[in-house]
Amino acid sequence: MKTNSDYGIAVIGAGTAGLTAAIYASRAGQSVIVLDGRGYGGQIGNADRVENYPGFKSISGFDFATALYEQAIALGAKIRFSAVKSVKKTENGFEAETEKVTYITGSVIIASGLEKRKLGLDNEDILTGRGVSYCATCDGAFFKGKSTAVIGGGNTALEDALYLSAYCSEVYLVHRRDEYRAEKAYIDRINAKPNIIQLKSHIPVEIKGSDTVTGLIVKNIKDNTTRELDLSGIFAAVGQIPSSSIFGGLIDIDEYGYIIAGEDCKTSSEGIFAAGDCRTKQVRQLVTAAADGAVAGIAAAEYVRK
Ligand code: NAP
Repeated sequence: MKTNSDYGIAVIGAGTAGLTAAIYASRAGQSVIVLDGRGYGGQIGNADRVENYPGFKSISGFDFATALYEQAIALGAKIRFSAVKSVKKTENGFEAETEKVTYITGSVIIASGLEKRKLGLDNEDILTGRGVSYCATCDGAFFKGKSTAVIGGGNTALEDALYLSAYCSEVYLVHRRDEYRAEKAYIDRINAKPNIIQLKSHIPVEIKGSDTVTGLIVKNIKDNTTRELDLSGIFAAVGQIPSSSIFGGLIDIDEYGYIIAGEDCKTSSEGIFAAGDCRTKQVRQLVTAAADGAVAGIAAAEYVRK
């Protein structure tokens, strides 16, 4: 295992919060390494359109993420696509261990975001990549002219249904309640799409298919009746869970897995900051992730300088 002590700050996660932290810490004069095993962009990298970030009427998630990535690099931050396996506190700072290199730094910013929640159905894992997907913008084009379902009632689910409705013959939108959690702007748009069939108060109970998905059994929770939908794609959009498991024991984490940190992004361990969706907060949006990145980047730079 190689060690590297070239950097003052390690940022874990190259999403909006992590890249913004890298921008601010670099501008504050610190050397920054950003580590992410999944590439750059985080959640927003897969979003079809961003229409609620101040200053941009509409921009693709990929273009937004790429602009952030290029900005961080231009300011001197280094980005390595390698997952952090563990973080240890040492006498003088921290060690962030990846597969091949252990980075020895003075401060750590955790901006590890969220992972997609699974549906919890029997053959979900086996059929993932064979009809079951967690990313409509990544996989939607494979279902051109086919019938699909989106599960969930939040912004992601409605955005996915809208995206898929352009490719698919029909899109079933399966939501467990009568009211959507999503913003009204999305609801108005799905109501105007004739090929989005809304199944409210329905839950998915069984995925059909052995090699690939052939159908989905859904249950109406009001009258307990079930029906099978003939389809070839199932897009799960039932929320996310914080990516914080490797930090247990190092910093305080709440019962839902969120890293406990306030608006100052300070965690229970001095020198470790948490930014973006992985921390306890009320509003999880692109703009609040960026705000956290700025706060954490400046605070970490100040911590290392002292
Ligand atoms: P979310 O808002 O947490 O919504 C998850 C949805 O899945 C909810 O409707 C929930 O139902 C449903 N659900 C949860 N567990 C389920 C289960 N086991 N079975 C069936 N349904 C289940 O998650 P999200 O839509 O991914 O959004 C996450 C955050 O990103 C939100 O803050 C959202 O505003 C933001 N976002 C923003 C944009 C944008 O602004 N362009 C786009 C996408 C996401 P209930 O409603 O009954 O709880």
